[in-house]
Amino acid sequence: MISLSPDVKGDNDMSTRGDVLINPKNGAREQTWTGFSWPCLFFGVFWFLYKHLYGWAIISFLAAVFTYGIAWLFFPFFANAVHRASLLRSGYVSEAQAGDFIPTPETHVRCPDCRELIRKDAKVCKHCGCRLIPQT
Ligand SMILES: [Zn+2]
Repeated sequence: MISLSPDVKGDNDMSTRGDVLINPKNGAREQTWTGFSWPCLFFGVFWFLYKHLYGWAIISFLAAVFTYGIAWLFFPFFANAVHRASLLRSGYVSEAQAGDFIPTPETHVRCPDCRELIRKDAKVCKHCGCRLIPQT
């Protein structure tokens, strides 16, 4: 049986909160985790399905069948890393990167001089150095 110590009671996820990854195409945000994945231990194959890791869902299912369920206990150790890697592969970027790399009409304008995308609140164009009036 798994016994939770009192200080983690009410928090059924003992993983460490990782960074938030953002999909530049649609702005979707995904919380990533590091360390042991309790949800993956409890939900196994279904956790992989939920995370859209269909290949891993099949692998973990087959592995569990062939090892009489023992493999089920091992996947949570690297499930979070697998999830994060898959997000990065499909084009997700970290929040810090996204701040610079996803120009949206809400955050960016074109520099009147060089036509490069710059932040709306910039006073100086980072590309050509032209002085700007910040738009807020
Ligand atoms: Zn410029």
